[in-house]
Amino acid sequence: MASHSPAGVRYSIVIPIFNEEAVLPILLRRVDALMNALDGPAETIFVDDGSTDCSSIVLEAKARDDHRCRYLGLTRNFGHQIAITAGMDAAKGDAVVVMDADLQDPPEVVLDMIAKWKEGYHIVSGRRLARDGESAFKRWTADLFYRLLGRVSAIEIPSDVGDFRLIDRQALDAFRAMPEHDRFVRGMFAWLGFRAGEVAFRRPPRAAGETKYPLRKMLRLAVNGVIGFSDAPLRLAIWAGMSVSGLALLYGLYVIGLSLSGSSNLVTGWSSTIVIVSFLCGINMLMTGIVGLYVGRIHAEVKGRPLYVVGRRIGFERERAAVDGPSEQIAAVARLR
Ligand code: UDP
Ligand code: MG
Repeated sequence: MASHSPAGVRYSIVIPIFNEEAVLPILLRRVDALMNALDGPAETIFVDDGSTDCSSIVLEAKARDDHRCRYLGLTRNFGHQIAITAGMDAAKGDAVVVMDADLQDPPEVVLDMIAKWKEGYHIVSGRRLARDGESAFKRWTADLFYRLLGRVSAIEIPSDVGDFRLIDRQALDAFRAMPEHDRFVRGMFAWLGFRAGEVAFRRPPRAAGETKYPLRKMLRLAVNGVIGFSDAPLRLAIWAGMSVSGLALLYGLYVIGLSLSGSSNLVTGWSSTIVIVSFLCGINMLMTGIVGLYVGRIHAEVKGRPLYVVGRRIGFERERAAVDGPSEQIAAVARLR
């Protein structure tokens, strides 16, 4: 069995929150029940991803009242993938569990994940057996996306696995050494390797409130998945360029043939010229766009900005004070003033 971390926390639960006031009353109860059911000291880190509703107030109060809960407030909406990264960075436990706020990742499943962790797995992911209450469109697009990703990606990224996952300290330290900006966290864990296990569960519908993943955010995640884990689009650009050039060459030969045979058809090619020119322009722009996607990612990386900015931290100091002792606590307060 793993030893306790220096902070004395064995389990960290990381929950990203973006305008989840509708679900918070149930969530807080379920999280308390989960922490009570765990066989060691636990903490829950609520990462407030720039909520504009009452979520922040409720969670700040919770972090003040309950010594096991922490509040990490990001300065704006950085997106789900960054929010869970911020939570994992702040987690102190030997095993860290990431789960959604809307209870679509049932807290009871965490106990099964922990059992697997104790069997010696470093990463235990939740596999969605069924997705109750999700639209046919969402299921169909997700299925299509994972099939496409499976074909183009250099590493195997399991389908039906989201970001509901337990990670042990060793795997988490390796994950934290990956500084990429446009994140596809489930792919990054697949890339890491380690001894990885799965726990199957039925995914219930959202407990309350609405999805915070509109089509626009889903598309961005999908693009990050493909671009981050495959250079197939770049290869596609080369193949498409070569095939179009090949066709153009054939057409050129045809035209030369016509002119040699003295055909009178030669000047009547206005519409075919327009079609070919605009087709080639389209292909050109598409290819520039594909290359641009990769260049854009390089741009994001070379700027070297932090992944996120934390505006407010509540509940973390207590634990540091306990470890550091009272004199450090006074010094910390003095620094704050
Ligand atoms: N979320 C977030 N930032 C965002 C979007 C979502 O922190 O920009 C959180 C959200 O509060 C929830 C989790 O990510 O805890 C998953 O979001 P949601 O349930 O809306 O996604 P879905 O299950 O519909 O794909
Ligand atoms: Mg959800």
